[in-house]
Amino acid sequence: MQTQNQTEKTYQHNLYPDERGRFGDFGGKFVPESLMAALAELEAAYDESLTDEAFQAELRSQLSSFVGRPTTLHYVPRFSELVGSGVKIYLKREDLAHTGAHKINNALGQGLLAKRMGKKRIIAETGAGQHGVATATVCAMLGLDCIIYMGEVDIQRQSLNVFRMKLLGAEVRPVSSGTKTLKDAINEAIRDWVTNVETTFYLFGTAAGPHPYPRIVRDFQSVIGIEARKQILAQEGRLPDSIYACIGGGSNAIGIFYPFADAKEVKLIGVEAGGTSLEAGHHAATLVMGKPGVLHGTLSYLIQDEDGQVLDTHSISAGLDYPGVGPEHSYLKDTGRASYVSASDETALRGLQVLSRTEGIIPALESAHALGYVLEQGEKGLLTPNSLIVINLSGRGDKDMNTVAKALNVNL
Ligand SMILES: *Cc1c(COP(=O)(O)O)cnc(C)c1O
Repeated sequence: MQTQNQTEKTYQHNLYPDERGRFGDFGGKFVPESLMAALAELEAAYDESLTDEAFQAELRSQLSSFVGRPTTLHYVPRFSELVGSGVKIYLKREDLAHTGAHKINNALGQGLLAKRMGKKRIIAETGAGQHGVATATVCAMLGLDCIIYMGEVDIQRQSLNVFRMKLLGAEVRPVSSGTKTLKDAINEAIRDWVTNVETTFYLFGTAAGPHPYPRIVRDFQSVIGIEARKQILAQEGRLPDSIYACIGGGSNAIGIFYPFADAKEVKLIGVEAGGTSLEAGHHAATLVMGKPGVLHGTLSYLIQDEDGQVLDTHSISAGLDYPGVGPEHSYLKDTGRASYVSASDETALRGLQVLSRTEGIIPALESAHALGYVLEQGEKGLLTPNSLIVINLSGRGDKDMNTVAKALNVNL
């Protein structure tokens, strides 16, 4: 049996990336020359923060009293029963974290880092608005200026989150270029950073982007896996057989996968958005259907056409609707350490309804992709009998009620 000490060591030990920010061939820094100095400054500040005891103590203290950590590892017997084959399923309850999802772990870590660097102006991108809300929340708490870039189409689709960000004191800047969605908002935030690099911290929302962001975001989200590893050892006396997590940019998944990466007997499975079908334009299953290419400063799998044009994506859950993915997942895919599958909109909707009815937990549509996938695998008899399974419940479903009602033809 592993001890708590070994668990801590796993986290401290940086398995990858290398000093160039590469995970195998993936990752790196594909950015304009004007940003190279800013990325180097960020990397140096981050490295210093790792051994700064005061910084680490403040991070631990705010994770506990502001975010509400540790979140529980919760056994779900009635859902397990429906999945069948005698499996035992635990949920890592990130839905219980402040603001209702895992995104706050990273927003808090980077917010504290910005403060440590003396940068008082924070910029961020957001798609569905969840990362914008987490960033605005942390900026309010730390007294930092907050500017959120958001596509005009997303602003219309997510008006409630726009209102939340404004209540929290953030300025929301509409982006009208391209498809007016997340990837255009990222382009605009990068442009702002190039112009205001002296005073500004770019608080990036997922485990993608140029080095050192994939590592920084992974490390701040690894609190999920570190807790889960201790909790499963305490509750079951052994490591799980498999861990499932949904994948948008890949931050909640890498956060729970990484502290188990050295435990080769634990299967790691990422579940992407299969949308309405796996035809181009109808899904966001980047690792399942994409090919390597460069987007937003990193080399990773990418949904693109023959000429390298980024293709449109679709998912019922706005948080998974991104054509790229973090480079560490591309590396885990190519080395075979993790495997990646997809679940359709319909499978996710089913996962959401079944968990709600059987366990009294309404999950986010994103997380419901992992739940629905496990449920259907179980029904098909494809899961290892009597196995111990952990599913990362990345967030709660309150934000998705309009989407779910519409999909079920219910008028609210
Ligand atoms: C944003 C979001 C995701 C997807 O982002 P990752 O970086 O892939 O984790 C998943 N679940 C919830 C609840 C989210 O808000």
